[in-house]
Amino acid sequence: MFYEDDADLSVLSGRKVAVVGYGSQGHAHALNLRDSGVDVVVGLREGSSSVAKAEEQGLAVLPVAEAVKAADLVVILAPDQVQRHVYRDEIEPNLKPGATLVFSHGFNIRFGYIKPAEGIDVVMVAPKGPGHTVRREYVDGRGVPVIIAVEQDASGNAWDVALAYAKGIGGLRAGGIKTTFTEETETDLFGEQAVLCGGASQLVQYGFETLTEAGYQPEIAYFEVLHELKLIVDLMIEGGIAKQRWSISDTAEYGDYVSGPRVIDPRVKENMKAVLGDIQNGAFAERFITDQDNGAPEFKALRAKGEAHPIESTGRELRSMYAWIKDTDSDYVEGSAG
Ligand code: NDP
Ligand code: MG
Ligand code: MG
Repeated sequence: MFYEDDADLSVLSGRKVAVVGYGSQGHAHALNLRDSGVDVVVGLREGSSSVAKAEEQGLAVLPVAEAVKAADLVVILAPDQVQRHVYRDEIEPNLKPGATLVFSHGFNIRFGYIKPAEGIDVVMVAPKGPGHTVRREYVDGRGVPVIIAVEQDASGNAWDVALAYAKGIGGLRAGGIKTTFTEETETDLFGEQAVLCGGASQLVQYGFETLTEAGYQPEIAYFEVLHELKLIVDLMIEGGIAKQRWSISDTAEYGDYVSGPRVIDPRVKENMKAVLGDIQNGAFAERFITDQDNGAPEFKALRAKGEAHPIESTGRELRSMYAWIKDTDSDYVEGSAG
């Protein structure tokens, strides 16, 4: 583990950092670096809806090409599916010799969509949490753990720069772990597909469907299979699955042991292995990028189908009526795709 004392922020002094993209990660990195005393400029495309937001928050904004020309570090935080276009058209032709490219996910490097020239340092600092949490934790004096990798070390300094960057965004307040682009990309995609996003979403939807199809009230089903999930997961984060089992009733704990493996049976593990196989052999990446390049018809249809699931309208209504939840991410609009 690497902590604050292992990194030297002065490695970044006198260096200009261009953060390309001002979305979930982009806004968090840019603001945290700025508040850590780093010289930051945000790079955005012409007419971008993010310009006003970045300027409102006190950051200088330039067209991507201009931001890159002046930068010693270029942080690529546009969506994964557009990174290779931005890289080819705006970044690569304007990159200073000896500059450092910073990623927060290894997708484009791992699958060969971006191939940086040899003289460039290529590093990754990947926060293990959503961008809005990365910002919120930093403001509260804490940080989100990061994983750090060096893909290309032309300068001989790439690791020190990556560590300093990790400190600048607050990640080393929580801790950093060394990884590789390959390990980060494959495990990140697997985690989000099999467990965190894909697995958890499907589990919750099936639980909700099972209860409502059996005639129980949707509002009750929502609390039992979705709302309480956070409380359970919080316990897991604090003390592992063991602490979660310690806190719940003996009835719940016994049910966990006898019914968990019935619901998530060994076939699920076989399915997970197949998902991992498609990540490793590039089939998932190709399917995603091909769909995106065609205007994302499959992606948009799946998103619309997910939003039409009855658990969403039930939850929307409950959340608007009760005071137990506050949406702190003001740029998220309930019920709007994206
Ligand atoms: P977002 O989808 O939130 O990024 C959107 C931002 O990118 C907007 O500011 C958008 O501006 C800008 N953008 C879009 N197209 C372009 C373009 N052609 N040129 C310049 N800017 C553009 O991305 P995320 O923050 O989700 O992801 C960024 C990276 O971070 C990815 O590699 C992702 O895998 C990684 N990551 C993301 C996490 C997360 O929490 N979301 C967690 C860990 C890693 P505009 O107004 O112009 O559209
Ligand atoms: Mg990811
Ligand atoms: Mg219960």
